[in-house]
Amino acid sequence: MVRPCDVLAVGAHPDDVELGCGGLLARLAASGRSVGIVDLTAGELGTRGDVGERSGEAVAAAAVLGAAWRACLGLPDGGLHGDDEGQLAAIVEALRAGRPRVVLLPDGDDPHPDHGAAFRLVVQACTWSGVRRWHPEAGDPHRPRLLLTYPGPRQALEPDLVVDVSASHAAKREACAAHRSQFDPAAGPPTHLASGHFLAAVDGRDRAAGNLVGVEYGEGYGAVGALPADELAWLLTTGVRGPGSGVRAASQDARAEQRAFALQEDRAYQDAPQVGAVGARDEAGSRAEREGVRTPDPGPRTPEREGA
Ligand SMILES: [Zn+2]
Repeated sequence: MVRPCDVLAVGAHPDDVELGCGGLLARLAASGRSVGIVDLTAGELGTRGDVGERSGEAVAAAAVLGAAWRACLGLPDGGLHGDDEGQLAAIVEALRAGRPRVVLLPDGDDPHPDHGAAFRLVVQACTWSGVRRWHPEAGDPHRPRLLLTYPGPRQALEPDLVVDVSASHAAKREACAAHRSQFDPAAGPPTHLASGHFLAAVDGRDRAAGNLVGVEYGEGYGAVGALPADELAWLLTTGVRGPGSGVRAASQDARAEQRAFALQEDRAYQDAPQVGAVGARDEAGSRAEREGVRTPDPGPRTPEREGA
């Protein structure tokens, strides 16, 4: 079940966020940020493991990372489509329930069709989620402030920024290993994922990313649109979790800011055009810009080869 959180990580499949952003999630959770995870599909097309098995592994991995909750939207594995309105509405509903300030999502250039489609879906959903009259039955409008993409396991590394995850990389490794059906050589027939080489490559990539900024382990991220530096600074502020009420106080501050932001959104979008109107997003975006609301820009990084 989706609940309010500071940071929402979205993956196409049950092990995607661990592989792509597990170090950052563990770091954020350790610093007191509330982290939620949404898997768009249950990974039913996987060569190994069934839905029940994978679901249990996903919950165990989320606990290792320190996530507050994990939910699966049950969209079709192998059937994600970036412009599917039903799929968009499901994600918008999750965004409006979770009301995250920051969203982590797959990179738009990820060659896996589901991952590329997930990028398009989530970027668009982050826009529509802030438009009150877009599927109003899906909840009160909410627009995340910062969208960061994480690379897929078979993507070359070209990060816009690198986060030091040296202190949380052991948790990332443990969370990945929790997906035994995928990565344990003894848990099924031989596959590349379970060969050991695959996880070693992820580990090596994180070492290479860390090396770019002079630390042991790093995770590379891309920005969707211009990078709001203040949001990034908020995200990575350390020491949020303190003894006693430290966590609660910080979270309450964040909630108050979110509520103020939501009110601002409401004013910005109360006259937004109806769903399906040509240019609706552009017009809503322009209105938001005039009224000072940040608008994630899905433009330049949107893949043109959707579904290829
Ligand atoms: Zn995947």
